[in-house]
Amino acid sequence: MSDPIEYVRERLAQQDQRLTPQRETVLRVLLDHADTHLTAEEVYLEARNRAPELGLATVYRTLDLFARLGVVRRLDAGEGVARYEFHPEGAGHYHHHLICLECGQILEFEQDLLDRVERAVERETGFRVVDHSLLLFGLCPNCQKPSDGDGDRPRSDREASGPA
Ligand SMILES: [Zn+2]
Ligand SMILES: [Zn+2]
Ligand SMILES: [Zn+2]
Repeated sequence: MSDPIEYVRERLAQQDQRLTPQRETVLRVLLDHADTHLTAEEVYLEARNRAPELGLATVYRTLDLFARLGVVRRLDAGEGVARYEFHPEGAGHYHHHLICLECGQILEFEQDLLDRVERAVERETGFRVVDHSLLLFGLCPNCQKPSDGDGDRPRSDREASGPA
């Protein structure tokens, strides 16, 4: 896999666009937070520390451009605000996201496992699947733990049955 900065520079060049210093700042913020999914506002706040002249509108435009080029993925987790993450070269189909309904944490699940669905859709509809965006809603391991009696939520009968 090539240097992500050079990869984005090439993808931009294919569209007669340049990796300007401002665009590079936005990109580096995303690369430095590869383990999370940042909102445009969060990208802006971080980018502004590095390049004070950078405006929020530029951040939005840059994220839009990156998303169009496929080097950044836009995630709508149902919060009314989009989140962004770098999509590395050769990453294939988009990974799945697990959204915790209690704490709002967004976890990732890297296995695709949708091959059968994709093939069935293609076979039955003639539609060619190139990607997907799948959100699974539930409770993360932390939020499943009993609350030690300080909450009024009913305990599940199943809590004792799991391993660990
Ligand atoms: Zn897939
Ligand atoms: Zn949680
Ligand atoms: Zn993700």
